[in-house]
Amino acid sequence: MHIRKRILVTGGAGFVGSHLCERLVNQENDVICLDNFFTGTKDNVKHLLSNPHFELMRHDVTFPLYIEVDEIYNLACPASPVHYQHDPVQTTKTSVHGAINMLGLAKRTRAKILQASTSEVYGDPEVHPQPEEYWGRVNPIGIRSCYDEGKRCAETLFFDYHRQHKLRIKVARIFNTYGPRMHPNDGRVVSNFIMQALRGDPISIYGEGQQTRSFCYVDDLVSGLIKLMESPNEVTGPINLGNPSEFTIRELAEKVIELTGSRSELAFHPLPSDDPKQRQPDIARAKTLLDWQPSVPLKPGLKETIQYFQRFVRDR
Ligand code: NAD
Ligand code: UDP
Repeated sequence: MHIRKRILVTGGAGFVGSHLCERLVNQENDVICLDNFFTGTKDNVKHLLSNPHFELMRHDVTFPLYIEVDEIYNLACPASPVHYQHDPVQTTKTSVHGAINMLGLAKRTRAKILQASTSEVYGDPEVHPQPEEYWGRVNPIGIRSCYDEGKRCAETLFFDYHRQHKLRIKVARIFNTYGPRMHPNDGRVVSNFIMQALRGDPISIYGEGQQTRSFCYVDDLVSGLIKLMESPNEVTGPINLGNPSEFTIRELAEKVIELTGSRSELAFHPLPSDDPKQRQPDIARAKTLLDWQPSVPLKPGLKETIQYFQRFVRDR
């Protein structure tokens, strides 16, 4: 008989969180989706609301939480530069106080806990592709630091709770992920380019567009997160989750124009400060320890995402 686990997903009404909640509910778990709706929306999970095994809870992770759970996925944190720079002090609090509160909850309930960390812990890297052993090159006082250093401190807390309190922890370092339910105005490159292409507006390339990123489709990421949560206790991570296929931002712009059939032109803007020049995950660890690797190439993933934004534009 399948025993339903009680699983808490913080940031569950966000882009990645909503896909994760959906998958966990479909796998017959009891899912508590916690969110303060800063960047997430009820619309992202409205199709789950009628399911008695899904519960939506308004709460801010910077405040303590007392519930009973078996597993915690800690995703609460704005992820796009526009959103996390909107209130940088709150961003650091969300990562640091949020981690302390969720680790406290895990300690009391003896739940297993997974942290959604990020490739940003590597900063603007001198090592390429980035393996987990690399300590990174992060500016501690720049405009991205509230996010990068907040996530680095959260990792520290996870490993100290593991060493000091014997908590079962899992740390995933997530690389650029895209797909349906990305926020249309979050300023991230995939959502920006698709919205601009659909409206026929110029495609905003920062710098020369020669900086690179590696884009992972959200379904692949969700599989990786669940595999990591279900891995043996000794697998704590950190473990990179992302798609190693690397593209320049200019190549991405050209692909989006091709797939949307748009007449948008390319427009070049100044590069924001501390923008990493290249990024590609080394996923050898995920392959060996989790038997995981992404399976959705950029083209079909972009097609799905474009269809979502087409529906989104039509429905508004
Ligand atoms: P998102 O902004 O769509 O989701 C974040 C969710 O957290 C939102 O629903 C937001 O309302 C909620 N939230 C923010 N602050 C909160 C708080 N104080 N209390 C409760 N809820 C709060 O972003 P996403 O892309 O879905 O990212 C999810 C997680 O994955 C984040 O932790 C992010 O740092 C991490 N991540 C994402 C990517 C990516 O490319 N999408 C890359 C690396 C890491
Ligand atoms: N970018 C761009 N045009 C945009 C938005 C972003 O050229 O309209 C670039 C940005 O400078 C960065 C890359 O695309 O080099 C990815 O940006 P994003 O904000 O999506 O994520 P990051 O990986 O920087 O956190």
